[in-house]
Amino acid sequence: MKTSIEPIADLSRLCIHSITNKPWSIELMAEKYARAGVSGITIWREALADRDPAQIRRRFQQHGISIVSLCRGGFFASADHEVRQRAIQDNLLAIDMAVTLETDLIVLVCGADPVQSLEKSRMQIMIGLETILPHAETYGIRLAVEPLHPMYADVRSAINTLRQANDLVETIGSPLVGVAVDVYHLWWDPDLEDQIHRCGELDALFAFHLSDWKTPTTDLLNDRGLMGEGCIPLRTIRGWVEETGFTGHHEIEIFSNHYWQMNQDEYLNRIISAYRENC
Ligand code: ZN
Repeated sequence: MKTSIEPIADLSRLCIHSITNKPWSIELMAEKYARAGVSGITIWREALADRDPAQIRRRFQQHGISIVSLCRGGFFASADHEVRQRAIQDNLLAIDMAVTLETDLIVLVCGADPVQSLEKSRMQIMIGLETILPHAETYGIRLAVEPLHPMYADVRSAINTLRQANDLVETIGSPLVGVAVDVYHLWWDPDLEDQIHRCGELDALFAFHLSDWKTPTTDLLNDRGLMGEGCIPLRTIRGWVEETGFTGHHEIEIFSNHYWQMNQDEYLNRIISAYRENC
């Protein structure tokens, strides 16, 4: 029997990705999120450019905000050997940065290369993951493979369904390798409910990302919607996720040219209302 989906009661599980409020500095996010009662942040590496990550960590700790994950590593797939080697180095650096930030999770956009087959890219992704895994094991850093919508299968990720991500996780068989379930990428998939449950059985559901799908979508990357603004059955999907026993954060991740132009204080208020009302 299915459990009923409780409405969102408070903000204790609300996390926002730094890219969502891109116009703000990371320091300003710490202040604004604390004041609004947001309890977590996922930090995109771009937001740390020219910053001392240890100082940023302390700032969020002082504000009582947990750093839920670091975004992002991956991009393992390339026809060019040197590009693949650079990606490995970059992922090792990402693990070191996660250690300094005292977060135990890195989100991986795994990569693809249009000059080679998706199967070949997937093989390189597996090799890349296995290559960085010992370094992740040294520090107990978890790696979340994020399956991306198939419209990104040319250059961003050859992992496009939750089934593929689960298969990869199952093959690697490490408790540190799991999945980030992002509704924007996966909402259309007829297997989604079954695969979310399978992901839970694998103990691999590491992260849950929220936004909405707008119609028409005017930009393939930067036109995500606020929750409730589009056609994604957010509450239904959250129900499936919670049925697995997932107790992690609900992470708001919205890339949007439209919202980046808006007053960010007003936007943050709208994010919080949309989270309460539509998730
Ligand atoms: Zn995501």
